[in-house]
Amino acid sequence: MADKMQARYDVIVIGGGPGGSSAASYLAKAGKKVLLLEKETFPRFHIGESLLPYNRTIFEELGVLPELEKMGFPRKKGAQFHLGNGRKNIKLVFGQGAFTREPEAFQVERSIFDNILLRHAEKLGVEVRENTVVIKTYSGETNVAVEAKTGNESVKFEADFLVDASGRSNFTGNQENLKVAHPELKKMAIFGHFHGVKLDEGDKRGDTVIIRLENKWFWIIPISAVKTSVGLVMDKDEMALSKKTGAEIFEETWKTTPVMKKWMEEAELAGNIQTTTDFSYYNAALASPRTLRVGDAAGFMDPIFSAGVYLAMYSGKLAAETLNKTKSSDNSVNRHFKKYEKRIFDSMKFYWKMVEQFYTTPFMEVFLEPREKYRIASAVNAALAGELEGGWGMKWRMQLFFWIVKMQAKRPLLPRITFR
Ligand SMILES: Cc1cc2nc3c(=O)[nH]c(=O)nc-3n(C[C@H](O)[C@H](O)[C@H](O)COP(=O)(O)OP(=O)(O)OC[C@H]3O[C@@H](n4cnc5c(N)ncnc54)[C@H](O)[C@@H]3O)c2cc1C
Repeated sequence: MADKMQARYDVIVIGGGPGGSSAASYLAKAGKKVLLLEKETFPRFHIGESLLPYNRTIFEELGVLPELEKMGFPRKKGAQFHLGNGRKNIKLVFGQGAFTREPEAFQVERSIFDNILLRHAEKLGVEVRENTVVIKTYSGETNVAVEAKTGNESVKFEADFLVDASGRSNFTGNQENLKVAHPELKKMAIFGHFHGVKLDEGDKRGDTVIIRLENKWFWIIPISAVKTSVGLVMDKDEMALSKKTGAEIFEETWKTTPVMKKWMEEAELAGNIQTTTDFSYYNAALASPRTLRVGDAAGFMDPIFSAGVYLAMYSGKLAAETLNKTKSSDNSVNRHFKKYEKRIFDSMKFYWKMVEQFYTTPFMEVFLEPREKYRIASAVNAALAGELEGGWGMKWRMQLFFWIVKMQAKRPLLPRITFR
């Protein structure tokens, strides 16, 4: 089949998830001619249903907030962290605390949410081609060329710049051999949607609930008035060694976790139990000539703190701002690209550190005993809401928090916890 060369664009975006649709929307709002290529036909299933409060700022800027409000998604005003044995818990309320500027988030069914964002991008002028898989990209002196397939038909497109938002497919990162896997965080997630999960009443009804076992954790995320997403994250090796199916491990684990019974006793599975890999990685470079990587195509980390969608949209926004500042004659990784890369690496590094620490006991001991001295608890609260631009005031408090965790490992300042 002959290749068809199409019109030339300012920017081509690979992927129509939250990272791709936000980058494309911001670019279109700035008057750019944008083509977005998505291999699936939306709506399509996706995991990753708990958003962070700071996502709301982006929804507002894009003009999509009223539409999301209308959908009646559950409102997440806080997050709860429990030990599986029921001995300790903490309930964070985003609206409380000295630094948080956004008090609540949505919990979403991603097929609906991602489709709203993609259709909104279209309304803003983005040309969206679904069922179109990108198979090769080339970066030249004056352009990028993209080869894709729509069914059996091969198509080629050209643009000044490329945004890779291909998620964990990590299209250009793999093509350029940039992927750096985390040496330890090789996890599996086992999850399903349930009816009849017994949620808290009142403001806490929409909370994300995390239940921490010794080397595993559960999430409980209400995603509609009747449906709740429940998942278990564990080491890949442990799952492989057990020789059990995901569904067997999932059921066995919640039934032997005292705290889970409260939520799950009357729960009924709606659909299937699914499994997916959950291996943390990042790309050694987020900018290549004429190309920026956003969202999971920049890096992916274990989802414990629900930061994935927010980081995808935040990096989508910054990538668009970067390209809006870059001249089409600029053919290398310029200073704007370098600045983008640094800002996204800094944001990712912060959540990586939180995730790595989450799997340690001293971190949990400090985290479950919040202290407002020097407003450290407020800083942690704001960080978990998505505050990435809190300046030095946030930075030194978070450094102090991590220092306390380090001290706790050496000599207990706060009560020890046990998982059994
Ligand atoms: C088990 C698990 C639980 C999670 N829980 C949460 C959570 O609670 N909260 C949260 O914020 N995040 C969570 N995440 C992370 C979240 O799912 C991702 O961070 C988020 O979806 C990233 O958005 P994205 O736009 O970068 O990528 P995606 O949403 O994955 O979108 C990428 C898109 O690119 C398309 N694509 C890929 N390759 C090509 C190609 N070659 N050509 C054309 N199109 C292509 C795909 O079809 C897809 O639609 C979780 C992740 C996992 C694995």
